[in-house]
Amino acid sequence: MVEFENVSVTYENGVDALNNVSLKIKDGEFAFVVGASGAGKSTLIKLILKEVSATSGNVIVNGFKLNKLKQRKIPYLRRTIGVVFQDFRLIPNMTVYDNIAYVLRVIDAPQKYIRSRVPKVIALVGLQDKLKCYPRELSGGEQQRVALARALVNDPALIIADEPTGNIDPELSFQIVRLLKEINNCGTTVLMVTHEQELVEYFGGRTIAMKNGSVVFDQILPGENTEEEYYAN
Ligand code: ADP
Repeated sequence: MVEFENVSVTYENGVDALNNVSLKIKDGEFAFVVGASGAGKSTLIKLILKEVSATSGNVIVNGFKLNKLKQRKIPYLRRTIGVVFQDFRLIPNMTVYDNIAYVLRVIDAPQKYIRSRVPKVIALVGLQDKLKCYPRELSGGEQQRVALARALVNDPALIIADEPTGNIDPELSFQIVRLLKEINNCGTTVLMVTHEQELVEYFGGRTIAMKNGSVVFDQILPGENTEEEYYAN
């Protein structure tokens, strides 16, 4: 669960990036976060990951009270969250298998567990035939699916997808959101930041819009388009 109580962030240069934001994302929810550049979306995500601290107000994520969280406990918070970035951030000289296994190796997971878990998550994103490939041998959409598998491998309570479709073709963007929805249907909370209005309109669901550091809209939208209409657009 993610809870913001009257959260404001003022950066050192005096910019007010968030102004008194309160919102709650319950376990198992799927929410889109939309808004123009500079609206405060990245600041919201950085607060959740404790890359930025609130200037005032409280942030609670997966049971961690972030205002009180000691520096050495931050890795434990981050292990409950999987993050997918716009630019994939795969390690170029590692195979698909190793890119995913790496996440478990750094937390000293047993080798036997790694060998059984990695093929499972890669199958979830439909890339079981690509385990031995390097990122450069995959399309953008495939690389993003690997990044999604990597975000999932540690079985996080929350997935944050930060413009995950920003660097991929529209049809593949649709696949990525559909995968995120499937993951959400299995119980993982998903927060997806996007600029792509068509995706939000197609899929519908909770949509949080930000403007100038405030939440200006937070409602559940109906999904509007059929898949055929989406491809025609
Ligand atoms: P978005 O992700 O919606 O584009 P951001 O959260 O990145 O918005 O930015 C919100 C505001 O905070 C903007 O005015 C931006 O210029 C400012 N900002 C973001 N990061 C920093 C930073 N590290 N230092 C100073 N100002 C920042």
